[in-house]
Amino acid sequence: MEKREQLYEGKAKKVYATDDPALLIVSYKDDATAFNGKKKGSIAGKGVINNQMSNRLMQRLERAGVPTHFVEELSERETLVKKVQIVPLEVIVRNVSAGSFAKRYGVAEGIVFPSPTVEFSYKNDALDDPLICLPHIFALGLATKEEMAAIIDLARRVNAFLRGFWSECGVTLVDFKLEFGRLADGTIVLADEISPDTCRLWDSATGEKLDKDRFRRDLGGVEEAYAEIMRRLLDHDA
Ligand code: 5GP
Repeated sequence: MEKREQLYEGKAKKVYATDDPALLIVSYKDDATAFNGKKKGSIAGKGVINNQMSNRLMQRLERAGVPTHFVEELSERETLVKKVQIVPLEVIVRNVSAGSFAKRYGVAEGIVFPSPTVEFSYKNDALDDPLICLPHIFALGLATKEEMAAIIDLARRVNAFLRGFWSECGVTLVDFKLEFGRLADGTIVLADEISPDTCRLWDSATGEKLDKDRFRRDLGGVEEAYAEIMRRLLDHDA
């Protein structure tokens, strides 16, 4: 597999073309941003952890019947993925109140929901990724009804799987963000990453935050939290 030109540089990853038009290489950076890029920093070793964690979780999800863009881990920071056309939505699943949910409705963090919620944000930096409802997704032509049915079903299956997995690691999966893409034949697959950047992960016993909220909220111990959550995953696999 030959790495070709850089196609795109995002906040946390770079994407490169390969000699196969159906495959791309994703390279994970240590750069960290929050609040739509208004807060900037770096988390030493984050790129390695996010790459390896996302790949391990996506491989498990594939085995559980969830199609993903994952093809092969190439190095500590680089992964070969299927080229997709990203559906411009953040698909957010919540099991417990936190973050923007707690703020929007004026409730405490930590309320366990009777059943998971699924919501969408329109991926648009200029608009600050606004919350969007299904009728508006269809009105804007962002995805079809069939695609949204597939995305919601996959998001719920990802949640059921990840919740169980993290629970076995002594971790509560509070909420997370997924992105989906279309393969050339239109099949919807899970894309982007699953990592402490995109999930809220709390120690089940102490409630300690083991995710990017430590960076967003200046809680300190950011690198240690990323290392600890990776250690839990590796211990589970061992
Ligand atoms: P909230 O809407 O409460 O801010 O975020 C809900 C969940 O989605 C959290 O786990 C958060 O990490 C994730 N999330 C929401 N928006 C983004 C985003 O723009 N980037 C990343 N990395 N995660 C996000």
